[in-house]
Amino acid sequence: MDSHTLIFRAHSSSRYSLAALVGVVETDHRLSELAIEAPIELSTSTIRKSVAKGPTILAHSVMSTQTDRIYKEVREVREKFGNSVTIVGGGPHVSARPMELLENGFDYVVIGEGEKTFPELLWYLMNDKDPTDILGVVGKITQDCPAPRDLDPVNLDTHPPFALGMNIVGPIEVTRGCPYSCKFCCTPFLTGGRVRNRSIDSITYWLTRAVERSGFDRTWFLSPNALSYGGRGRTVEEDKLEGLLRTVTKIEGLKEVFFGSFPSEVRPEFVTRPILEMMMSYVANKTLQIGLQSSSNRMLKLTNRHHTVEDGLEAINTTLDSGFIPHVDMIFGLPGETKKELHESIDLCQSLAEMGAKTHGHVFMPLPGSAYENEAPGRLDSESRKLLGELSRKKLLTGSWSTQESMAEILSSRKS
Ligand code: SF4
Repeated sequence: MDSHTLIFRAHSSSRYSLAALVGVVETDHRLSELAIEAPIELSTSTIRKSVAKGPTILAHSVMSTQTDRIYKEVREVREKFGNSVTIVGGGPHVSARPMELLENGFDYVVIGEGEKTFPELLWYLMNDKDPTDILGVVGKITQDCPAPRDLDPVNLDTHPPFALGMNIVGPIEVTRGCPYSCKFCCTPFLTGGRVRNRSIDSITYWLTRAVERSGFDRTWFLSPNALSYGGRGRTVEEDKLEGLLRTVTKIEGLKEVFFGSFPSEVRPEFVTRPILEMMMSYVANKTLQIGLQSSSNRMLKLTNRHHTVEDGLEAINTTLDSGFIPHVDMIFGLPGETKKELHESIDLCQSLAEMGAKTHGHVFMPLPGSAYENEAPGRLDSESRKLLGELSRKKLLTGSWSTQESMAEILSSRKS
């Protein structure tokens, strides 16, 4: 077998999937001959050197907001190296628009969760087999593209959460899948409604190794709704939640555990005083990331959130009373939102700031795979932009709402 190289293009937008996927590749004994590189900048010389050594596979994890950058890079690689590089892709955008990637120069794309399919694809490429024989891999000859729901869900415990060998270590994804169906969100499409939790044993095993091998001394967790850890996503499983926090905070050398703060989020109706008081005795974070999304009950109903504004305000008050700072996620410009509702949502951000909370502002983006993918992009009026700008300047509002407004237009224009 020729000596193959995998160049997995690293980018801040996809660093979590990079860590997890390089982790599965470096621990797959069938791929032990594969050289792996994960450059932050993809230089021509990196690719040239690799092509000179042998067959080269270039991998991208593609978020819907990153397609312009990635397609440009792929075009440049094709112009310089022709078919001597095999270009493969995975990630959220791929699952929703696989053919778009193939039309933009990719050879093969992986649908859905990559932990099983991606190493399989690499093994097929290294052994001159046709990757389109793998369920979940789409190539130019594929007739019927599967959707993520057609594929078996991954058991998180059977795969590493990050790449210790290459020292690409990030937050541990403790829960995957979400039983809710918020219309602006693509998580249900990508990972399904069946919730899977990484076991406490597995989390402890990997964290202990990360502390020993990489000098890791703080950890974050990834979850669509952190307070649902251990259950099926619709209830708080207090024993499991506390079991996780108690166990990981005992790991020697791990100084800080962040839970329920960014990059995780919690749904408002899961927030209770006893749970937050329990958390307070374990976690290092001062903030709790709460998804409220709108100040309008009509909008929350329309988006299928299954909680009310009052639930959100109660969660925010409970959070403040428990000694955490609420970081409240809000989405502006949701489909069907009136100007009055938009302005009221921004007014609420101001009121939240006066209460001691902070807001993380988003502009609605019609994400491929979400129920709202065909809706018009979120648009702010000049008054809203001015108010949001003022909140940002006072550091009471964070988030890339301004960039998202342009991104939303780009996503929308691509459909036509
Ligand atoms: S926004 Fe959160 S609760 Fe709603 S579907 Fe997405 S992950 Fe689930």
